[in-house]
Amino acid sequence: MHIVMVTPECAPVAKVGGLGDVVHGLSSELQARGHLVEIILPKYDCMRYDHISELQKALSDLWVPFYDQHFHCDVFSGLVHGLKCFFIDPHSYKVFFNRGIFYGHQDDPERFAFFSRAALEFMLRSNRNPDIIHCHDWQTGLVPVLLFGIYEGLGMIHPRVCYTLHNVMHQCVTGDPVLRQVGLNPLDYRTPDRLQDNHNPEAVNLMKGGIVYSNFVTTVSPRYAEEIKYSALGCGLQQTLLDYSKKLGGVLNGIDYSIWNPEIDPLIACRYRIDTIEDKYKNKEALRNRLWLRHEFKPLVAVVSRLDRQKGVELMQHAVLYCLANGCQFILLGSSPDPRINQEFLELKRRLDYSPDCHLELSYNEELAHLIYAGADMILIPSAFEPCGLTQMIAMKYGTVPVVRNTGGLADTVFDADYASKAHHERNGYVFNDLSPQDLESALSRAIGLWNLYPRYFRELMINGMRCDFSWRHAAEYYQNIYDYIKE
Ligand code: ADP
Repeated sequence: MHIVMVTPECAPVAKVGGLGDVVHGLSSELQARGHLVEIILPKYDCMRYDHISELQKALSDLWVPFYDQHFHCDVFSGLVHGLKCFFIDPHSYKVFFNRGIFYGHQDDPERFAFFSRAALEFMLRSNRNPDIIHCHDWQTGLVPVLLFGIYEGLGMIHPRVCYTLHNVMHQCVTGDPVLRQVGLNPLDYRTPDRLQDNHNPEAVNLMKGGIVYSNFVTTVSPRYAEEIKYSALGCGLQQTLLDYSKKLGGVLNGIDYSIWNPEIDPLIACRYRIDTIEDKYKNKEALRNRLWLRHEFKPLVAVVSRLDRQKGVELMQHAVLYCLANGCQFILLGSSPDPRINQEFLELKRRLDYSPDCHLELSYNEELAHLIYAGADMILIPSAFEPCGLTQMIAMKYGTVPVVRNTGGLADTVFDADYASKAHHERNGYVFNDLSPQDLESALSRAIGLWNLYPRYFRELMINGMRCDFSWRHAAEYYQNIYDYIKE
């Protein structure tokens, strides 16, 4: 099959969160299975150009309709770790993608609406007629709308569209100008059965457009697929998702075991596998040395996360104090674009700066993340909601026991040591239900208790996690079936 990914992110060149990892991991696996995969991205100035080889101009004459004008674009091609990527580079006074960051501008709707139109225009002009166009999140929600509204009429009748929702909280609710900009008449498209926002009849909702117009919609875990239909996690899209539930499915993301694997990881102090699991403790020593923590017989609890309200930042702060008061060490690696959240953690850091059992690292540090996964005993993920979550899957591969809230992809991958309705060899962590300090404490105390009192059973949990297979193999099979289904 010829599959074209249209996406705002692809790791490692343009990554803000899990979406970038998913596009890279899924594309690599599909390519390894013999499909022709191409990826279309904006040409951001802030990309990691050191990860792109053979970057060259592929098309210098792309004129993309924009209101009543045309914007001139160059399209570059390049290889990102073996994946063929096309980068759209508009020459316009609006400098859509030369702003030093990926998202966070007032005109983000306009920037990505333009990108969606440009990606289709590029496919048309370069005679690409893929079997599947796979779009991601609100940024590309207009792609299926434009395909069936404009580009089918220009001859692109072959492609089918799969649309993946990575986070339904960000839908892009905006005004009519975005539709006019890309050549769609708001009178035709801002209607309840099309792009009209379910809460505000004066607004259009780009994610809703993607859901209505694509041939199949996926989310990144089966549990999240249910949560967004039946609870407030649908953020207003519940009815739309229920209306289209026949074409909605949840496919659990995978992780890339060529990067996240303690047997081959070059970024950790000592490599290990299940039968050499004692070597994990050399990483604990190395981690303590690196962060100036004292060497004592204590469990080490860690957090590696974006510091966002979604991730349960209040519970993280509570957990730091709880763990320190209950004989543990605590490491947090996290960063936030929100100054208020940063300030909260800075204050906590100041209070605990002299503790020999605690380190809060308020930055983004890929290399340190590897050592934390390898060196910690437990990883805490107290999310309010979690569409999939990669952190728990990575941690388990490193034999680090996850303590998580019962939501989304966390619920699909972590099974409680005491209460899961699973065989003992499938239990791999601790799960709590309510987003409350009491529930968090009860799960943490059970984990800490097992570590202290029953190390043999704790080790079993570690090994159960290491045995899980969260590779892209399964997800790619699901997506292949979905592509086959919509092609027919
Ligand atoms: P989300 O995409 O919502 O941020 P995921 O769990 O899906 O959450 O993915 C998070 C990814 O980002 C993981 O690979 C995790 O290791 C990484 N990560 C998060 N915060 C940091 C940080 N401060 N430094 C290094 N890596 C981080």
